[in-house]
Amino acid sequence: VVERVVEQVAARPRDPLRARRALPRVAVVGRPNVGKSTLVNRILGARVAIVEEKPGVTRDRTEHPAEWLGRHFLVVDTGGWEHQAEGMAARIVDQAEAAVAAADLVVFVVDATVGALEDDERYARLLRRSRVPVLLVANKVDNDRQEALVHELYGLGLGAAHPVSARHGRGVGDLLDEVLAALPTAADQAPAVSTVPRVAIVGKPNVGKSSLFNRLLGEERSIVDSVAHTTRDAVDTMAEIDGEPWVFVDTAGMRRRYRHGEETELYSVDRTRAAIESADLVLFLLDASEPLGEQDQRLAALLREAGRGVVLVCNKWDLVDEDRRLDLEKELDRLLSFAAWAPRVNISAASGRGLRRLLPQLRTVWDNYRRRVPTREVNRLVEEAVARHPLPRQGQKNLKIRYATQAEVAPPRFLLFANGRLPASYRRYLERELRERHDFTGVPLTIEDRPPS
Ligand code: GDP
Ligand code: GDP
Repeated sequence: VVERVVEQVAARPRDPLRARRALPRVAVVGRPNVGKSTLVNRILGARVAIVEEKPGVTRDRTEHPAEWLGRHFLVVDTGGWEHQAEGMAARIVDQAEAAVAAADLVVFVVDATVGALEDDERYARLLRRSRVPVLLVANKVDNDRQEALVHELYGLGLGAAHPVSARHGRGVGDLLDEVLAALPTAADQAPAVSTVPRVAIVGKPNVGKSSLFNRLLGEERSIVDSVAHTTRDAVDTMAEIDGEPWVFVDTAGMRRRYRHGEETELYSVDRTRAAIESADLVLFLLDASEPLGEQDQRLAALLREAGRGVVLVCNKWDLVDEDRRLDLEKELDRLLSFAAWAPRVNISAASGRGLRRLLPQLRTVWDNYRRRVPTREVNRLVEEAVARHPLPRQGQKNLKIRYATQAEVAPPRFLLFANGRLPASYRRYLERELRERHDFTGVPLTIEDRPPS
């Protein structure tokens, strides 16, 4: 199958935390009446109706998921700053300051028709001192004539102001472009997704990892061997199979046969964990010919933790008879009850039987691992699911899901914004619905709820 082994690259474990980063936060701040709420509602667009704001009620800091040009972020609505505030107002100031501290970007709104007041200047000073990037917005620029007002705001020392009319929507699109441009690039988007799939071949000693690896890489394996010989460091292998590049992550034990006298020593749970975490996809090998055991369980636990794409490979199928088969099915059910979504392939690495089915499965899981369901669809799916199975009550209130979005890919992570905690059983129900409508074969799904902060 292999056309050529392209190169060997030094193994570089990826930061396992990278995929877990939360959405970036954009805090909208300014003194009262400059038009913050109007602007936030503009940014949230059609979802305004969801935000119920009762006048006179505490205006706590609230986070709203927003999307612009396919990029997701949270808009943090602050109650407005009031200098020398007392009581409730002081609390709101605290909230605003907390929002700034936790923000990746601050949108500082000034009323252009009024110009920079003393309070605006005071807060500009405070913002200049903070480490957070600031976009200065001149609001209430409702027409061309008023554009000139913007220049007066240079004095705030926060650069050129962006003229908008929150009421009419004028300039808000341009502002959002600026917001996206100013958000820290590493944090803003879904995690950087590798374009070449990284595959770890994992299994207990003697399960057939080397045999499978060599089968997949075919004749070219001599190149691999010679390099592996010369170094004790971990080495990943990039190979082109059927015209597509794949990286095989150096896995504990995969090359042990080339290291005389060290065979068992090289098998370590830590190295396997590192290999899994640095990979996108895991080929989990089981020896189908003997009872699954403790080592398999330990590896399954690692897989469960890591949340990678998985293809289950039952090797040594040539040694499996009818009796063993029945037992195996039961053992598999028990071992992998958490990964009922993983596809399974039965092979004989020694003879190469069944291998043809392996690559297409791996390719499918790779696609699914990076699948992004558009926010519109996620929300429609959730709405329909809720219509079929109403959310339970929680104490006095009716639980409601205000908004849902897929916050991350590789692996996919969904966020639900609700007015309370959703029961785990309900999240599992939504997972089943998601899997029913979208192919997530081989991929773990995370569904998190975010009750209001
Ligand atoms: P906040 O206290 O900063 O949240 O301000 P609001 O969003 O409640 O707005 C205060 C007042 O300014 C309201 O009467 C809004 O209708 C008005 N306002 C907000 N944006 C604009 C705008 O772009 N142009 C004009 N002319 N008025 C606006
Ligand atoms: P590793 O320790 O996981 O790398 O396993 P190896 O690839 O070195 O294989 C261990 C032993 O199992 C070797 O003797 C292989 O020949 C044998 N083996 C691997 N795959 C199969 C298979 O599909 N069927 C049979 N009968 N033996 C196999």
